[in-house]
Amino acid sequence: MKVVLCTNRQSLAIKVSEFLKKEVNFLLNLPIDDNLQDKIYRINPDVIMFDFSTKNRRKWKLIENFTSAPSLRDIPLIVIFRKKIEAQIQKICEYDIYDYLIENFLKCELIMKINKAREIVDIKREFNRLLTKDPLTGAYNRSFLMERIGEEISWCSLYKDPLSLALIDIDFFKKINDTYGHLSGDRVLIELVSMAVDFFPNSMTIGRYGGEEFCLIMPSTAEKEAVEICENFRKKVARNEFHTFSGRPINLSISVGLTTFHGEVLISVDEIIQRADIALYKAKQSGRNRVIFEPFVVE
Ligand code: GH3
Ligand code: MG
Ligand code: MG
Repeated sequence: MKVVLCTNRQSLAIKVSEFLKKEVNFLLNLPIDDNLQDKIYRINPDVIMFDFSTKNRRKWKLIENFTSAPSLRDIPLIVIFRKKIEAQIQKICEYDIYDYLIENFLKCELIMKINKAREIVDIKREFNRLLTKDPLTGAYNRSFLMERIGEEISWCSLYKDPLSLALIDIDFFKKINDTYGHLSGDRVLIELVSMAVDFFPNSMTIGRYGGEEFCLIMPSTAEKEAVEICENFRKKVARNEFHTFSGRPINLSISVGLTTFHGEVLISVDEIIQRADIALYKAKQSGRNRVIFEPFVVE
């Protein structure tokens, strides 16, 4: 559990760290300055505690951002006040903060609030996992992929930042099922996803598009780099030893259909997938175990 305490006061930092030293394994004090939000983005904590007594004029703006920015709003925010001032409490209640504390709080109060926040974080994580991940492989599921592709298309159109998208399909997968059984096919899918998650950079998203077909979203990646990355992955798969359910080693190959969109106009999710699908079809038709790039032509 990662807790961040935003304060410029050492006395508060000492009190909180004393109270929480047995409760949390990661507690970091951050000064309330212009870099605070960036630092929080990078740390991605489970709970944020914010000292409201700071003289920083941007404190309301920071609270607004913590409670509304897409990647921060799900992190429980606990605001610490020096005194219980009605106007301040009223205003803070208008924001979607998780809770607040008054400065002379007791150790048990702080621990109780942190533990409740921890429960919420765990529930949200589990809920998100069920909602966005494929239960067999742990890769992102199709509905998550669709949503993410939509967001990336908007970003790409706005900033003219190239977006590449690949469809990856296992060659002759049916034969693996037919020869070694369905459970062996399942094991191969799990092994392939684990390999892909290790291989592709964190900025890229891999998900299960359908049965034995995966989709790779590559933001800020132009043709040349996208082809190179996919080609390296294809080679790695072809060299790798996968396993049947009973542990017997087997080999397999993948075909990859790839396209790149440059944000010329706003397009739909289906349009970019369709283009990658045409490339995948060509990869299958021309012999499998290859990467085919199909330019995205705006009609
Ligand atoms: P191609 O090279 O043309 O892609 O041939 P293929 O055999 O891979 O393609 P096809 O689409 O004919 O077969 C895909 C198979 O994937 C059929 C289906 O039974 C299997 N499959 C889909 N989902 C799963 C799954 O979750 N587990 C297992 N074991 N098999 C699955
Ligand atoms: Mg296949
Ligand atoms: Mg298929």
